[in-house]
Amino acid sequence: MRISWIDDGDDVRYVGPDETLAGRTGKVTRLDSGQDPSVEVDLDGDKRTLAPWHLVRAGEKEMHAHEKLAEGLHFFEWRGFENNCNAVVLEGEGTVVIDPGHAHLLGSLFSAMAGAGLDPGGFAAVLLTHGHPDHIEGAEVFHAAGASVGMNPDEWASLKGEGGMLFRFFGSEVPEMDVTIDLAPGSVEVAGLTLDVMHTPGHSPGSVCLFWPRTRALVVGDVVFPGGAFGRCDFPGGSYKILLESFVKFDGLSPEYLLSGHGPSVSGRADVSDSIQSSRSNLRTVVFSPWS
Ligand SMILES: [Zn+2]
Repeated sequence: MRISWIDDGDDVRYVGPDETLAGRTGKVTRLDSGQDPSVEVDLDGDKRTLAPWHLVRAGEKEMHAHEKLAEGLHFFEWRGFENNCNAVVLEGEGTVVIDPGHAHLLGSLFSAMAGAGLDPGGFAAVLLTHGHPDHIEGAEVFHAAGASVGMNPDEWASLKGEGGMLFRFFGSEVPEMDVTIDLAPGSVEVAGLTLDVMHTPGHSPGSVCLFWPRTRALVVGDVVFPGGAFGRCDFPGGSYKILLESFVKFDGLSPEYLLSGHGPSVSGRADVSDSIQSSRSNLRTVVFSPWS
């Protein structure tokens, strides 16, 4: 695992659960990003060895806006200029993070999570809507902190082949992790939560949407965006026609929250339904355009 959100010599701030260290700052004196990653920090003469996910740069600018939408349902909307995705956190018997985003931008997410009372090192699982670098790169870090990883098996298989090209294109690598939670269509039990998994290819071959019946939250990754937009289909394994067919999976679902990989959250059944329908009709125009 590579530690890319803090560096040797950085001034850092503690964002972990140890109350005696809360808010303390110090300097990184050594980074060990091996099997059992650790960071040596000098907190004003007090030398400690800490977990990397409990440290962020001292002046870290929080680019994730936190919204608690319902009991146990958190949305971390990415508001930076650089491309990155939104993250969603679900709380059951344990906590689950969906799509943590780019690894080098995790400092912002960890800081926002700590502000919301969540321990970045305490996740039971990290689930991935699809395998694009701006969604899954940081999953490796949550995995190293002890979280089990869930992805659709077709998506994971595609990353070993054609899908992996996208990582190399952006100068990155497919994260090293064991995928042990199978996000195949049906229902999945994770950390005491029951989620419905829908296979919604088009943006990528193994894209999934996750529906949490208890809160009626629909997490869609890059399939649908608010305001009538939809995922691009020009990456390996993408297809606009197949994406349009995937919209059938939302019929009859009536979600209360639409949580996309990019852009703000949408709340309320009528607004969510309008948003999905306008994306669908815009996509239909693209697929059935006589000029394409
Ligand atoms: Zn994507």
